[in-house]
Amino acid sequence: MSDFEFKNNVMHAEQVPLPALAEHYGTPLFVYAKATIERNWRLFTEHLPPPHRVCYAVKANSNLAVLQTLARLGAGFDVVSGGEIARVLKAGGKAERIVFSGVAKSDLEIEEALQAGIGQFNVESVTELEQISRIAVNKGVTAPVSLRVNPDVDAKTHPYIATGLERNKFGIAMADALPAYELAQRLPGLTIVGVDCHIGSQLTELQPFLDAMDRMLALISELAERNIFIKHLDMGGGLGVRYQGETPPPVGDYIQALLFKLEQYREQTGRELALYLEPGRAIVANAGILLTRVQSIKANKIKHFVMVDAGMNDLLRPSLYQAWHNIVNVENKLGVAVQGDIVGPVCETGDFLGQDRTLIAEAGDLLAVHGAGAYGFAMSSNYNSRPRPAEVLVSGEQHFVVRARETREDLWRTETLLP
Ligand SMILES: *Cc1c(COP(=O)(O)O)cnc(C)c1O
Repeated sequence: MSDFEFKNNVMHAEQVPLPALAEHYGTPLFVYAKATIERNWRLFTEHLPPPHRVCYAVKANSNLAVLQTLARLGAGFDVVSGGEIARVLKAGGKAERIVFSGVAKSDLEIEEALQAGIGQFNVESVTELEQISRIAVNKGVTAPVSLRVNPDVDAKTHPYIATGLERNKFGIAMADALPAYELAQRLPGLTIVGVDCHIGSQLTELQPFLDAMDRMLALISELAERNIFIKHLDMGGGLGVRYQGETPPPVGDYIQALLFKLEQYREQTGRELALYLEPGRAIVANAGILLTRVQSIKANKIKHFVMVDAGMNDLLRPSLYQAWHNIVNVENKLGVAVQGDIVGPVCETGDFLGQDRTLIAEAGDLLAVHGAGAYGFAMSSNYNSRPRPAEVLVSGEQHFVVRARETREDLWRTETLLP
């Protein structure tokens, strides 16, 4: 089921025809379907009643209205910076439902997080443990901590988004986990609440999650033998979505498989554990498209170039990880198909949205780039002095601009000329 479907040969976002949005707000334009975000969220929460918890990974799409939509559903949030904490609070999210991940937290970010009263720090090194302890003691508070442990499993995903291998920068090596927990127990100002891992993004198989969970549960047992009792196991995010032909496990199957392991653990040890998950992509990727207009088409001896008004500064994933996004004409029409690359206006050969595609398109047509709800606007930039696109959230027949298109003045708002 999708909220971006053709009705009378014109693609709609929920009940709104995309050409009307392009007319109203201009292009390039990110369009989000609120119904999809809500449906994806419920797929997670219906399988994970409290004390289990779902913490949306804010970095996938941090627009305030997206966060607000999830906050209204009672969401938890996984953040990786002080800026993301501020966004969650601004959008009405609850501080005690925030988990704070990230490899290089600054003193200021830790102070802000303690001030806000977040639920948990996912601590990525022994130095960070000492840092949080020092700041918490200074403030006279206790910081709830989980250690992010690197299970050394191969997520079988793109190397840039694999995070759970020994050679990656993330987390504490499994071999160092016990002494790190013992240190956490000794340090003042800390209270141990959980164990955390996150092995990568866009995973399309269950097995790496299950392998990681086995290793985490074994660690939790070893900790219990040392009288360190864990309340919850945070298995991170990473569940993949379908961009092309991928067949990621359905959300329900994924959660049931993890809960089954938790149940086995309870039967063996008599101890209860809550499961935390941090999905980002699986909540928002298919809730968004990037709407872009064809500027011109040219051909050389080998192929066509369909030049559109969105580029790698708007949607970086194809250039950064050779990611594949489905790209379609928003009008289902007859005509001559072009074969070649869909490229943007940025002065880089790597600036493309799709390569070796076949579609019917001519100058002036609107194209929809699917799967742009996650790591789309969030990774955008002003490269080539291009103002970033507007973001629009659709709900039924209504549409709201949830981020205005940047203006020329926005480009240099924080710059100054010399006197
Ligand atoms: C990026 C990230 C996530 C979300 O990953 P998705 O693949 O979008 O689900 C979750 N947790 C942490 C720590 C992350 O860095």
